[in-house]
Amino acid sequence: MNAPRLGHYIGGARVAAHSQRTAPVFDPSTGTERAALSLADAVDTSAAITAASNAASAWGERSASDRAQVLFKFRELCLAHRDEVAALISAEHGKVLADARGELQRGLEVIEFACGIPHLMKGEFSDGVSRGIDMHSLRQPLGVVALITPFNFPAMVPMWMLGPALATGNTVILKPSERDPSCPLRLAELWTEAGGPPGTFNVLNGDKETVDRLLTDPAVQAVSFVGSTPVARYVNETAAKHGKRVQAMGGAKNHCVVLPDADLDQATDALMGAAYGSAGERCMAISVAVVVGDATADALVAKLATRVRALRIAAPGEADPDMGPVVTAAHRDRISGYIAEGAAAGATLVVDGRAHECTTRQGFFLGGTLFDRVTPAMSIYQEEIFGPVLCVVRVATAEDALALCDTHRYGNGVAIFTRNGGAARDFAHRVRCGMIGINVAIPVPLAFYSFGGWKESAFADHNQHGMDGVRFFTRVKTVTTRWPSGGDGASFTMPVLR
Ligand code: NAD
Repeated sequence: MNAPRLGHYIGGARVAAHSQRTAPVFDPSTGTERAALSLADAVDTSAAITAASNAASAWGERSASDRAQVLFKFRELCLAHRDEVAALISAEHGKVLADARGELQRGLEVIEFACGIPHLMKGEFSDGVSRGIDMHSLRQPLGVVALITPFNFPAMVPMWMLGPALATGNTVILKPSERDPSCPLRLAELWTEAGGPPGTFNVLNGDKETVDRLLTDPAVQAVSFVGSTPVARYVNETAAKHGKRVQAMGGAKNHCVVLPDADLDQATDALMGAAYGSAGERCMAISVAVVVGDATADALVAKLATRVRALRIAAPGEADPDMGPVVTAAHRDRISGYIAEGAAAGATLVVDGRAHECTTRQGFFLGGTLFDRVTPAMSIYQEEIFGPVLCVVRVATAEDALALCDTHRYGNGVAIFTRNGGAARDFAHRVRCGMIGINVAIPVPLAFYSFGGWKESAFADHNQHGMDGVRFFTRVKTVTTRWPSGGDGASFTMPVLR
């Protein structure tokens, strides 16, 4: 039987694609093809841009309170359909159901924040900046914006962008990952059901060819991107070259520093969740544990090894697994390749995920892997593996640990485990990284703060969500007002405020 074809969501309805190009969408738990995803061509892309352009003026002219009402209703519908949306996420991503529900919850927190848009969009007013002159600033939407998202959070990352983009009055073309498009398509349906006007939230499925059209079409005013670093760099440069506003989040290699005074049981619990939750396919996953002192490292590795061997790995629908499969067969093979490279380079392979019994199953399963005595020169330390692999690096001092975090090319998240407040404060103040956890392994900022890394983990100026999201999706206009009461005559000098 042929896999069902998935098209786009344009102008408030699901539409079949003009393009004949497709990509397979798999169920990672079984390895079977669930659907054939249409990859948009120029005709499909134009249809989405036209729908978004036609809707832009009326949506942008609505009052912020009116738009917020649609967001409130959208949130309610997402909650009412929480289990259905989580099942769609798990079926195409492979993460366990509780994790999928958690992702949806974190995404909805951004929608909740965006429901406050009448307050968030308020401008500034100065009374009497000069004799009889007032000044005020306001924020206006950009128009049509493109949102390009990765496979690992098919609900949360789109919502990071959808919340502020739609609340501020823009119309959006969401280009989700080819791996798990069903959740974004369902979110667009729920938006329409919530009263979102046709054309305000479009989903255009596709690949690089589709992205390139969005990056270069003059109707697209801004591009918000989250994905891997090489693509983030490319999107940033290409969109900027075509005169667009852009924000582009990239990959990560998040370190967790463990000082000798840390509570090792607490650190072990935290590292297990942060390294192996969602099979390590999180941009805030911890993939490197930097341990200060051999005695601490010996104790921590012993605790971790027992727990990694005991990981419950199964399909999302089965009894309460810790993690599911990885997203594709190609990704599983890529991770296995890194494990082979690490072992060949001389790292100690404490637990080899390639040997786990789950790998005998049909889907894209891989066990958890633990390396010890990893050195900075190794590819398993340098590169983002994006799988269930934790590398332990041993250092002599806290300064050495800080230096490692600072010199790595990625700077998304970092954590430190210690009981020493002074040491933690000093680390958080000095480390070159965007998001810091103190005895918190995955320090993802809440919706009312903004999310973003440093160095090669993010390009351009604006972070995701929080006030940065509102700023990114609006332009500022500043108005100077005077109501003259008599003829003041012409002035040929530079106006000054007195
Ligand atoms: P990816 O870069 O392969 O794909 C992201 C998006 O870009 C997808 O929509 C894809 O279709 C598109 N794309 C892929 N190749 C392209 C190309 N050559 N030209 C134009 N567009 C292209 O990323 P992924 O594998 O889907 O997701 C995992 C990556 O995302 C990891 O590197 C992870 O760290 C990163 N990520 C970062 C954050 C963050 O906030 N920093 C959050 C989540 C994921």
